[in-house]
Amino acid sequence: MFEESFEEQRKKLVSRLVDEGVLKSEQVIKAMLAVPRELFVPEPHRKYAYADTPLPTLSGQTISAPHMVAMMCEYLDLKPGHKVLEVGAGSGYHAAVCAEIVAPRGSAVRGHVYAIERVMDLVIFAKKNLERAGYSDRVTVICGDGTMGYPEAAPYDRILVTAAAPKIPLPLIEQLRVSGRIVIPVGEPYSIQELVIAEKREDGSVKSISVGGCVFVPLIGRYGWSEHLT
Ligand code: SAM
Repeated sequence: MFEESFEEQRKKLVSRLVDEGVLKSEQVIKAMLAVPRELFVPEPHRKYAYADTPLPTLSGQTISAPHMVAMMCEYLDLKPGHKVLEVGAGSGYHAAVCAEIVAPRGSAVRGHVYAIERVMDLVIFAKKNLERAGYSDRVTVICGDGTMGYPEAAPYDRILVTAAAPKIPLPLIEQLRVSGRIVIPVGEPYSIQELVIAEKREDGSVKSISVGGCVFVPLIGRYGWSEHLT
């Protein structure tokens, strides 16, 4: 039996996510087809790169399941030219998918993704993966506590958080542009969590809705959970 190529597996997965109604917009579909997830998965798990499941990265962390990446990108409503902050860079995969939308390959429109990660080994891993996959011109990876945001490049059109917070960290709201959008899992570590979408109003407050349950590793930091509680 011939094994399917990664490209064939990627096309099948995307087509399944379209059939399931998870993938809806042309731009997210194109981005998921363009980014080779296998380059962001550590070697022992690479053969499962197109299983719709989270996979281990390093230091007990994970790369999110493809359906969750697709769903969060759909909720973010990314546009070419947007400046995006991702908190929880992990492998760099989700940042690459966002970059493919805000700064599409071959287009003159240059949005940018700032991806912050607290674990140094993962910062190195994400940088290497993004370089190999051809995204290092469109994604900047920073080591730090993302609950504080990254004020150096603020304000952001969109903020994506890929670890579960006790509530939306205040610095992230402050660093979001008016009418900007944040997508963030909120809830207890390893317990009930909800995926929240919030938009910033003129007066600086946010209007938020929950779009359903989810499971993420905890967001650890000054405006997140304490490392000792997790
Ligand atoms: N988006 C990633 C990807 O595409 O591979 C997956 C992210 S993983 C589900 C969550 C990540 O959030 C972990 O790598 C974890 O180390 C990181 N993290 C947790 N708290 C953080 C914080 N305060 N600042 C930055 N990263 C944090």
